Amino acid sequence: MSAIYSLDALKFDNSFYNKLPADPVINNNSRHVDAACYSKVAPMPFPKASLVAYSREMAHELGLNPMECMTQRFTEVFSGTKPLSDMQTFAACYGGHQFGNWAGQLGDGRAINLGEVVNSKGQRWALQLKGSGPTPYSRHADGFAVLRSSIREFLCSEAMHYLRVPTTRALSLLNTGTQVERDMFYNGQSKMEPGAIVCRAAPTFIRFGNFELFTSRNQIDITKQLADYTIEYFFPHLGKPSKEVYLQWFNEICLSTARMITEWMRVGFVHGVMNTDNMSILGLTIDYGPYGWLEDYDPQWTPNTTDAGGRRYAFGKQPEIALWNLLQLANAIYPIVEESKGLENALENFKKVYDIAWRDMMTSKLGLLNFEPETDEVLFQDLVRNLKNTETDMTLFYRHLCNLEIKKVTDADQLLTITQPAFYNEDIEPEAADEIKTWLLQYVERLKKDGKSDKDRRQQMNAVNPLYVLRNYLAQEAIEQAEAGSYTMIHELQEVLKNPYEEQVGKDRYAKKRPEWAKQKAGASMLSCSS
Ligand code: AMP
Ligand code: MG
Repeated sequence: MSAIYSLDALKFDNSFYNKLPADPVINNNSRHVDAACYSKVAPMPFPKASLVAYSREMAHELGLNPMECMTQRFTEVFSGTKPLSDMQTFAACYGGHQFGNWAGQLGDGRAINLGEVVNSKGQRWALQLKGSGPTPYSRHADGFAVLRSSIREFLCSEAMHYLRVPTTRALSLLNTGTQVERDMFYNGQSKMEPGAIVCRAAPTFIRFGNFELFTSRNQIDITKQLADYTIEYFFPHLGKPSKEVYLQWFNEICLSTARMITEWMRVGFVHGVMNTDNMSILGLTIDYGPYGWLEDYDPQWTPNTTDAGGRRYAFGKQPEIALWNLLQLANAIYPIVEESKGLENALENFKKVYDIAWRDMMTSKLGLLNFEPETDEVLFQDLVRNLKNTETDMTLFYRHLCNLEIKKVTDADQLLTITQPAFYNEDIEPEAADEIKTWLLQYVERLKKDGKSDKDRRQQMNAVNPLYVLRNYLAQEAIEQAEAGSYTMIHELQEVLKNPYEEQVGKDRYAKKRPEWAKQKAGASMLSCSS
């Protein structure tokens, strides 16, 4: 563990700010920012801000004494009201492809960076306030965030960390004490909502879109400067930048992205807005907006109402879209690499690595010893088809499947009762039930071949199949309670989600499948980008 400091003793080394070109213009008007990686901008003060929640563990990572998080001073600093003297605040300039189309300059429209803390172990944590007022990149929007979406980002990013999914983290969630106007479903029905600020943390927040923007403007010297900076600070093992090193770097980005997507597929996470401005250069899950968790298993499902027509970012499309996004990054760095073959090889490698990672992930989710190509390829595909045919809760299915005791199996009906709690309808269509039963019998035969004990298999499965995930309706309940003034459920969810793989006494309520009321409810099953 790193040494513990007070707020004033945190050590800042603001490398992004100090090493990369700054916008010489100092004003906060929405504008085109030329040839700069960022613009200096101060967060807006929120004198009425108050603490909603904080992450003890994230404070520890920074080397910050968690007791400090409960002080008024902490709220003043992380509401952006009184930044620390070593903080150098700015908004980053980046572009991106949104829903498959080049969108030009985007940038931190409602995020303001505070600088980088280096803890006693030498680890770098960039801190960023989301929702602390306008920046030159706010375009027509206000730069604020509302409590509902900030609760979702705060809880989910920390929960993902405990699920072992690469992600940005969250230090704190503050209520700004002010109201923000939002038209949640773009239907002309605006309402006032409480404003909030999340302090996010990551080694860096650089996205694919940072590189895309400068190349799109033919400012290749900046693309190169940014790449060299990224390699020096975040890929130092690659050595001094060269064409060869850029290729190795791109290959590593492909690998870390493949790993991130595999983890999403393992836990049933749907990002919802995989635009290239929301793809981290470190392969971290970033920008928790209209994300969602698969309840009934459906590869076509997207939580994002804005994407309901095209379903570009649906669960099952995430690997393909990640590859498409990587291709955009390859195009962006091509001018500094000048060798398309190497980039193409890395993209090909993504596909291979992802396929193997997916296979290994399924092997572990099913508690198998090894992947056996002759049987398991079909076994996995059949399972996925079955889960889709019958409304089945993905999380509960895997969690109950591990209760199977090989020696006690009598017939297929008995097998079906083991996974029964995962089905949304008590009476499954006879045809679908037969198919699942056939699959379960095949699975039992497959397990017999491995000869592993029930206990060992259960342990293996429970270590990769979470019991507690931030179900969409649970997040929504916590939001409604918070809007009514109680933060208790936020804190309780925060605690439960720290141990997603372990059954916790008295916490059944957080492991239940989606209730009927939540199926079509706004917030619980449908979300928009407007947050
Ligand atoms: P997102 O879909 O949240 O990743 O946002 C896409 C782009 O819109 C980013 O450049 C954001 O900074 C910007 N943006 C989103 N919401 C706001 C807002 N309320 N105020 C200013 N900019 C925003
Ligand atoms: Mg974004």
